[in-house]
Amino acid sequence: MIAEFDAIRSLARQLRGTSNWNSPIAWRKKLASHGIPGLDAPLQFGGNNFSATQMVEFFAICGQIDLDLRDVPGVGHARIILQQEHINTVQQQIISRVVKSEDFVAVAITEEDAGSDIRNISTLALPNGKGYILNGEKLYVARLEQATHIIVFAKVIPSHYETISAFIVPIHSPGVNTKAIDAMGLHGVSFGGVSFHDVFLPDEFRLGNEGDGFRLFSDHFTYWRIAMAAAAVGCGRGAVNQAIDYLRKRQAFGGPIGRFTHLQQELSRHISHLHMTWLLVLSAADRLDSKKRAYVDAAMVKAEAVEAALDAADWSMQVHGARGYTTDLDLEKRVRDLKGLRVADGATDVLRGQVARELLGDELYDISLGRQTYTRHSVSLFPRNFWDQLD
Ligand SMILES: Cc1cc2nc3c(=O)[nH]c(=O)nc-3n(C[C@H](O)[C@H](O)[C@H](O)COP(=O)(O)OP(=O)(O)OC[C@H]3O[C@@H](n4cnc5c(N)ncnc54)[C@H](O)[C@@H]3O)c2cc1C
Repeated sequence: MIAEFDAIRSLARQLRGTSNWNSPIAWRKKLASHGIPGLDAPLQFGGNNFSATQMVEFFAICGQIDLDLRDVPGVGHARIILQQEHINTVQQQIISRVVKSEDFVAVAITEEDAGSDIRNISTLALPNGKGYILNGEKLYVARLEQATHIIVFAKVIPSHYETISAFIVPIHSPGVNTKAIDAMGLHGVSFGGVSFHDVFLPDEFRLGNEGDGFRLFSDHFTYWRIAMAAAAVGCGRGAVNQAIDYLRKRQAFGGPIGRFTHLQQELSRHISHLHMTWLLVLSAADRLDSKKRAYVDAAMVKAEAVEAALDAADWSMQVHGARGYTTDLDLEKRVRDLKGLRVADGATDVLRGQVARELLGDELYDISLGRQTYTRHSVSLFPRNFWDQLD
């Protein structure tokens, strides 16, 4: 791992101040010879087969440099392909090209009326005997301009959420059109919408079986949320490091501002929260590597890491006074980027709701969502041992 870390640090020195600084695609291409884009891919695809515990270190260092670099290590959303029991030749080739940084994969789930409420998607992939015909529109999707392929979640039967399935769609397929949407941060990749008009998808573009969409989603996003939590902790740590320097350096009223105890107290609080969330990242990654259920751990750590990092970056801006408010420093960028991550890949309050569900049981959760019919079992409200339950 040391050689890979050195390659990332050395590239950071080369690219600082250039237009490629926050372009994950440029970084992936330059780091392909060091194996960085394939770190978490299996060996048979040319990857390094790194564990989640190893990968979080890479996401953290990239997040510390710049949150836009969260897309640099590993195969990213192409990992959805790897969650299948059988990966066909077409899909194997895509993974191999992603590992070499020739391909890049976006994921399109969100729609105008379906964000957190994924069951409500209306994009349809109707079977036509030879494959599927895809119609619909996705919004607020990252990476479309950089992507060679999009993994699209769609229903196979209208209104049947049980039939949500995933398909890999080449971005230049006839009937695929993208549009840009202005976003306040995370500009290293694009942000926008994509529409599908009678797009033909052969059977081999379907991932898993019809109706496997939720399983593929939760298997992949368990990993990805832990990864994004690690990137967030790194981003927050980078902001606090700048505050530490400034607390020592900045003179006011005859001495360094770091002598003010209220700033010392806040420094301690932010570093402690970031360290606590980092330990949660390691614990969640370890559960994943040990093949234990980690979906709720991932929800917990993604929510808390992003909030801790955002709190820390906002404080660091304040410590820097007017300088913190300028674009001469990257603190305002860290805040803008973290605000994006607070919503992307599961909004904080939705993820906290998943943790609460683990404690309260399905019944209250389903009632809160008006979903009494989906209740799987009723629960008592006596406190239960949260940690034991996760096994
Ligand atoms: C930077 C960025 C990148 C993104 N990239 C992608 C991408 O690549 N692909 C993609 O498909 N999508 C992407 N998204 C979209 C993202 O996944 C959704 O925005 C997110 O799931 C929330 O959906 P929504 O915006 O429709 O909010 P809604 O679901 O409408 O929720 C709005 C708010 O209501 C509250 N809320 C809703 N439901 C609940 C609940 N059950 N419990 C508690 N509170 C709730 C929360 O406060 C939530 O923030 C991205 C978004 C951002 C900001």
